[in-house]
Amino acid sequence: MRKLAGGAVALAVTLLTDAPVRAQGPAHKPTDPLTDADRTAGLTARDGKWRGPGRFTVVPGEVPAPGNGVLTTVRVEVEQTLPVDGEVFAAYVLDTLNDRRSWGRDGERTFARKTEGKADVTVVLATPATSARLCDPWITGGFLSCAKPGVAVLTFYRWALGVEWYGPGPEALEQYRRYLVNHEVGHVLGHDHKDCPGRGRLAPVMQQQTKGLGRCRPNGWPFP
Ligand SMILES: [Zn+2]
Repeated sequence: MRKLAGGAVALAVTLLTDAPVRAQGPAHKPTDPLTDADRTAGLTARDGKWRGPGRFTVVPGEVPAPGNGVLTTVRVEVEQTLPVDGEVFAAYVLDTLNDRRSWGRDGERTFARKTEGKADVTVVLATPATSARLCDPWITGGFLSCAKPGVAVLTFYRWALGVEWYGPGPEALEQYRRYLVNHEVGHVLGHDHKDCPGRGRLAPVMQQQTKGLGRCRPNGWPFP
C-alpha cells in the first residue's frame, strides 16, 4: 500500500483495458513549493485533499472564440474546496485548446468558453476521489484522468503533481498539463488511443502517456 496525498491509502489500481498497473508515481511531492508555471495553471496550493464535496463551480465568464474555424463550446467546472483559481484554470484550458498546436490545427477549429446551456465539451477538474467516481466504469483510482461523452475529467492528483516520467521541472509539468487537456478533450472530440510509433519519436497526444511513454518522448500536443 502507498500513502497518498490527503492521507488516503489506496491499493494498487487495475484498469479495465490493461494488465494491472501500479499507481504511477508523481513527479512532485504535495509539499513542493509552487512555481510560476503552477500558478499559471490555476494552482493556489499543491496539497489538495483526496476527497472533495462532489459539488462544482462553473467558472463564470463567456469568452468568444478567437478564430473562424468550426466552433466548439467549452464549459469549465472546478470542484469546490480544491486549491484552484477557477478563472486562471479555465483560461489555461482555453489557451491550450486554442493553441495552433492543439485540435484547432491552425484555424480548422476554434474554442469558445460558455457558462449557460449545453456545451460541446465540459472540462472538469476534480479531487482524486470525485474524479474516480465520475470516471466510473473506468477504474482510475483517482490517479488517472478520463473522458466520457461530452466530458473530460481531470484529476487534481496529476494536475498538481504530474507523472514521474515527464520529470519534475516546471517545463515538464507544463508540457504534461497540456497533454492532459489535449488528450482528454481529444477523446471527447472522437479520437482514440494511439501507440508510440517508434524509438525516440514524440509520443502521440493520444498515447496513454500517464501510464508510460514506452520508447517515445513526452509530448502534449496533437500537432506539435
Ligand atoms: Zn485516454
